[in-house]
Amino acid sequence: MEEQAAKVSTSQVGIEWRLDYLQNFAELETQLHQILFRLRSPQSIATCRRVEAGGLFKGSIEEQAQLLEAAVRAGCHWVDLEMESIDRAGPGFIRRFKSVKTIASYHDYRKMPPVGDIYRRMKRLPVQVAKIAGQVRTLADNLKIQKFLKAHHAGNPRLVMLGMGPAGIPSRVLGLKWGGAFTYASPGSHSAVASGQLPVSAMRSIYRVDHLDHRTQLYGIVGSRASVSLSPSMQNAAFNAKRVNAVYLPCETGRLSDFLKFARALGFAGFSVTMPYKRAIIRELDWIDPLAQQIGACNTVAVQRGKWMGWNTDAAAVVEVLTKRLRLAGSRILILGAGGAARSAAFALRGEGAGVFIAARRDAVARRLAREVSAEVVPWGAAEGLDVDAVINATPIGMAPNTDAVPIDLARLRVRVVFDMVYYPMETRLLSEARGRGLTTISGLEMLVDQGARQFEIWTGESAPRALMEQAVRQGFDHPELE
Ligand code: NAP
Repeated sequence: MEEQAAKVSTSQVGIEWRLDYLQNFAELETQLHQILFRLRSPQSIATCRRVEAGGLFKGSIEEQAQLLEAAVRAGCHWVDLEMESIDRAGPGFIRRFKSVKTIASYHDYRKMPPVGDIYRRMKRLPVQVAKIAGQVRTLADNLKIQKFLKAHHAGNPRLVMLGMGPAGIPSRVLGLKWGGAFTYASPGSHSAVASGQLPVSAMRSIYRVDHLDHRTQLYGIVGSRASVSLSPSMQNAAFNAKRVNAVYLPCETGRLSDFLKFARALGFAGFSVTMPYKRAIIRELDWIDPLAQQIGACNTVAVQRGKWMGWNTDAAAVVEVLTKRLRLAGSRILILGAGGAARSAAFALRGEGAGVFIAARRDAVARRLAREVSAEVVPWGAAEGLDVDAVINATPIGMAPNTDAVPIDLARLRVRVVFDMVYYPMETRLLSEARGRGLTTISGLEMLVDQGARQFEIWTGESAPRALMEQAVRQGFDHPELE
């Protein structure tokens, strides 16, 4: 506990001590006193959440109160008292802590609770802060949080309101901007005590939660697994470096319509689109770049004078990274896969005058794409003897956790350049085998940074700080929960 707290202890970060996570309370007061003395933490919150309120503490309410009193004697400045205990023990429960500040808290780990009723009850209590946290299922739930925080931020007690779960990340990042008294973060990437909680380091240095204001422009990435995307690290690093007052949020949702409502209500200035919405977003656009239209996939939307404009920066990124290694016109390129990324590559490369071969496990899908771009089909697993300038892996084969898999046996192919779109791990087995054979390699990371840099340039009109964006992605890999 102390080690984790020491990592984050700064003047603007308070520390919540979750006493219910302790196995042994025997030396609590002495030990906590020593730790607080050593850390000189400006604000310490003692919390001992009981099982019935979603915590781990199995003792009685009296035992809970005694532990919290010990924490106050040790030097904590705040105590968090859950509404379940306040309701059961009566108003005398709060009066036991009148020497410190108090938070009345309510957590619902299944849904967003009826916040109006709860806040009305909390307002009658002699506490400084009312905290309401509920599991959110949709991005639109963040809008309810925004509305409630804006309506009550000047009230007494001060309000903290959070959405738990991946879809609630925007409420954690934007909570202070919306008027919340504070927001919560975890000390490290593996120590979150609630779903969707981000590390303090990410909240401060990636999302800069304490610098967002009413002029901050909103961007984000929409996808069914957007909460593990590396794009927020990459794009926020670019915004910070270029001093653009903007924040880029992970917008995870199972329904595109949910994101549309959310992005429109908050006035997003632009966003990235990832699986599985790259095709479905097209019908929401006011204008689409002709190449993106042909490909049938859009990964970048910029909002200009209220109009939604779409591009496909994957296609341009494929051309860019390959052009650095070979002359595309007249070259022969084998694409493995026939999904969205393969389509982007096929259209873009044909447009540059390259000859394209497509191999995919579903022959009919490979044939359809080949017909659209005038390419040749190679049966899946039968590329033996083919002589090409480059091969592109546009399947997820080799992606973690299946890092031993390769999409093709390089020994059976004559090829010079091997390009793997998979970027996790950064060096796939396919790339290390290619390197071992003395072939030129291109990693998915290079493409990821290039397509992201193009998005940044579309949104801001400024040149993207590519080296820094790459560094941010590499650092993102240090958080193993990220893709
Ligand atoms: P997608 O639309 O789902 O297409 C995946 C393709 O791979 C499909 O043709 C699929 O065949 C095939 N496939 C999947 N598993 C396979 C297996 N075990 N054996 C043979 N074929 C298999 O996905 P996508 O958007 O094109 O993405 C493909 C890969 O590129 C992903 O790993 C993605 O992360 C990566 N990517 C990287 C970047 C970057 O910036 N580096 C950008 C975009 C995509 P079926 O249709 O039969 O399933």
